[in-house]
Amino acid sequence: MPELPSTLVPVPLRCCEMRRGAGIRFCGEIASHVRPGTGLRGDLFFCELHALPSDKAIPVGQVFELVRLEIVVELAGVTPGAAVSRSEAVAAVERALNRMGALVDVASVSSRQVRNVVHPPTRDEIRQSAVPR
Ligand SMILES: [Zn+2]
Repeated sequence: MPELPSTLVPVPLRCCEMRRGAGIRFCGEIASHVRPGTGLRGDLFFCELHALPSDKAIPVGQVFELVRLEIVVELAGVTPGAAVSRSEAVAAVERALNRMGALVDVASVSSRQVRNVVHPPTRDEIRQSAVPR
């Protein structure tokens, strides 16, 4: 196997158990177990709920696919002040992404005052449109 780069900060692996329903969905919870791959298929990772008795604990040095997303997130500030709103927004996004095992590296933060030209969705409308876990 060729020499692979290593992560400076350990990244939690995520469960690949398929979910039933429309479209392809995976469990995605933090994995604790590995099931060795066969043939062209690589090792598979499973959370406590989806692991089989024959699965092993994930060892240090386990090879996995590290996905890097470069995204733009826009979120309403919690105060009229830019500094507090920016700090709180970064913390809120980090908390949300950390819960799913993501490491967050915020490259830049900015804000500006704007106004909506139509009424934004309500909390219930947002929850109803969210993909169920
Ligand atoms: Zn799972």
